[in-house]
Amino acid sequence: MLMSEQSIKFKSDSNIAFNEEHWQKMNYNTGCYEKRFANSQDHYDNLELERQRAYQLRNKSLLNMEKLLVDFETHFKENGGNVLWARDVNDAQEMILEIVNKRDNQGVIRSNSAVLDEIKLDALFADKKFPYYEGSIARYILKAASQAPYHPVYHTLNFSKEEINGVLNEHYKLKLGSTSKQMISFIRYQINQDLKKIDICITGANFLLSDVGGVVLVENEGNILKSCTSAKIHIVVAGIDKVISSVEDLSIVLPLLSAYANGHGMTAVNSITVGPSKNRQGPEQMYVILLDNNRTNILENEVIRQSLSCIHCGACISVCPIYKNIGGNTYNAPYIGPIGSVMAPLMFGLEEYQHLASLCSLCGRCTEVCPVKIPIENLIIENRCLITEKRVGNAKYEALVKSMISHCKSRKKMDCPQWLKKLEIKQMVSKSAFTKRTMPELAPKSFNQLSKE
Ligand code: SF4
Repeated sequence: MLMSEQSIKFKSDSNIAFNEEHWQKMNYNTGCYEKRFANSQDHYDNLELERQRAYQLRNKSLLNMEKLLVDFETHFKENGGNVLWARDVNDAQEMILEIVNKRDNQGVIRSNSAVLDEIKLDALFADKKFPYYEGSIARYILKAASQAPYHPVYHTLNFSKEEINGVLNEHYKLKLGSTSKQMISFIRYQINQDLKKIDICITGANFLLSDVGGVVLVENEGNILKSCTSAKIHIVVAGIDKVISSVEDLSIVLPLLSAYANGHGMTAVNSITVGPSKNRQGPEQMYVILLDNNRTNILENEVIRQSLSCIHCGACISVCPIYKNIGGNTYNAPYIGPIGSVMAPLMFGLEEYQHLASLCSLCGRCTEVCPVKIPIENLIIENRCLITEKRVGNAKYEALVKSMISHCKSRKKMDCPQWLKKLEIKQMVSKSAFTKRTMPELAPKSFNQLSKE
């Protein structure tokens, strides 16, 4: 089979990203995260117990997902909201367009949420006639720089302060040499101005509460809350995996999310919205679009289903050695890093994204840091098994694997000359693997020969 378009793009993007300067920047930034994370552990007397609770809570939610979603729908509708069920990206896009086109809309603002990238919201509104605004500081910078988020929490991780200043100077004439405070104030002011012009806000959701029909939104800036209260219509797009059973569960997952995302005891702004406003201080209408987009297929696999427990704290990404080398944009998917390597192939196509399953050295650091105890490297191995089982692999590669197996089974072949072994290994491993590394020397004699001697 030919290499997929995604994997060709990945090869060239990762080759560009893989350089000393990028590595140093990533290593420094992720190092800062590790220090903050280490400090955050002091907030807990027994962190392990809390992680165990979170693991059980999320697993229970996955196993009862159908009932929890129906209960969420019932309660949210009782509160005056609307619930729509989207099978895939097309469904979600059509639903959003229908809501937006129903009114003479002055403008739409969006929050920074991976699920909005999953449904390709920017492309959906690219040629529409109404203004479309970014509602978060990071996305404001990224839009000007024409880039996608580099990390689910530290969206502009790949930019230095000076580079951000350069982008803002180029696009908005903000003076060079501005401090971080000045840059943030400038963007905040712009967003506040945009908020005066909008009718509709579109956000994701961190959790959906089944018992009260609530949507939980977690942020550091307060811009999501401002957007929701300024808009006349609030559209929420949420993966069906976001549902949890009770508002009480938040006492476990919210502090963990905050500690593992940015090392804080609690994120600055946590909102629960249970439907449209009854006193005109918020949106007149609320819609929650429950997005499947292959999540039910993932649920069917007993091993891989655990990936849907993810609370998107980004910890596994921050500690991943592969991510530090190749960065976030090379994944070319809304979910990146180790958990992205599990989810993207299953959500967006095993054939197109199968190369992501190879992006793992199985060091296990991601599993160590996951607050909800997802055994990420096992799930990556499971993905590799699925790829092999479905024989979506390259025919040449499969022939090589066969010859390798026959080789390993034969003592005589294993004792072949060193030059022949080297040649075979070079055939097995992609050529690009040796453009930046040298192949280690092989032992002159096999173990069998040494043992005989
Ligand atoms: S897999 Fe775990 S560590 Fe990674 S983003 Fe999800 S919850 Fe965080």
